[in-house]
Amino acid sequence: MQRLKDRTALVTGATSGIGRAIASSFAAEGAYVAITGRDASRGDAVAAEIRESGGLADFLAADLAGSTVAVRRLAREALEVLGGRVDVLVNNAGIFPSISTTTLDEAAFDSVIAVNVRAPFFLVQELVPGMIERGGGVVINIGSWISTVGLPSGALYGASKAMLEQAARGWAAEFGRAGVRVNTLAPGVTLTDGTLPAKEQLEGIVARIPSGQLALPDDIAKAAVFLASDEAAYMHASTLLIDGGALSTRLT
Ligand code: NAP
Repeated sequence: MQRLKDRTALVTGATSGIGRAIASSFAAEGAYVAITGRDASRGDAVAAEIRESGGLADFLAADLAGSTVAVRRLAREALEVLGGRVDVLVNNAGIFPSISTTTLDEAAFDSVIAVNVRAPFFLVQELVPGMIERGGGVVINIGSWISTVGLPSGALYGASKAMLEQAARGWAAEFGRAGVRVNTLAPGVTLTDGTLPAKEQLEGIVARIPSGQLALPDDIAKAAVFLASDEAAYMHASTLLIDGGALSTRLT
């Protein structure tokens, strides 16, 4: 299927995990994808893999934890490589340090907020006006099942994802009538490079949920393709939860 034929997409944090799977799936559906992250060797490898499979992709290096200058530069570069238009923005890059509030330092706080919240805000500011001029576009925020539950050592991360999810609702209200659809895709516990070190502990948690196993990045990417495509034309301000049933069942 070519559900994203002739569309262009910027996927942040696409050098790894969920973002990588989303970029590959978008390209397989016909989109020209700009991949970003800090790690150029991984980013170039993802872009090369997509091109070898017959897709269109380029890697753009960007550190989203820095100032908004880097975020705005990324938006400009994405417009350049994608022929002047970004039809779909996926705010996927995220960091999820496990930190207790009593030992949290300011630098860690600032970097979580910068990557998980500030960068999406300024990418939207840079890219959505162009979507509106062209008559439409799609923004997908990658949230988390954790945004609605309290976990020890998860207050900062959960709060950042709750903020991103709420921003999606606000952006849907702000831009929906101009043709821009904004939604949140909230993954459950997913096996990625980022969660691999805690694999055993996470497998213990998901053993008790309906799916009985960890999500894989492709499970999340399939939902991202749906949200980006015209199949989701009536979806605005929603949160699509792909969590294997974790939140809606008792973890006993
Ligand atoms: P991952 O494997 O650790 O990948 C994170 C991606 O974000 C990488 O491509 C990384 O690129 C990029 N990134 C991190 N810091 C960055 C920075 N300062 N500047 C630019 N890019 C940066 O993570 P993942 O597990 O796939 O998670 C992806 C998203 O899903 C995150 O938003 C996460 O919160 C969310 N999520 C994950 C899970 C899960 O269980 N895995 C569950 C719910 C939600 P570089 O290393 O190249 O910079």
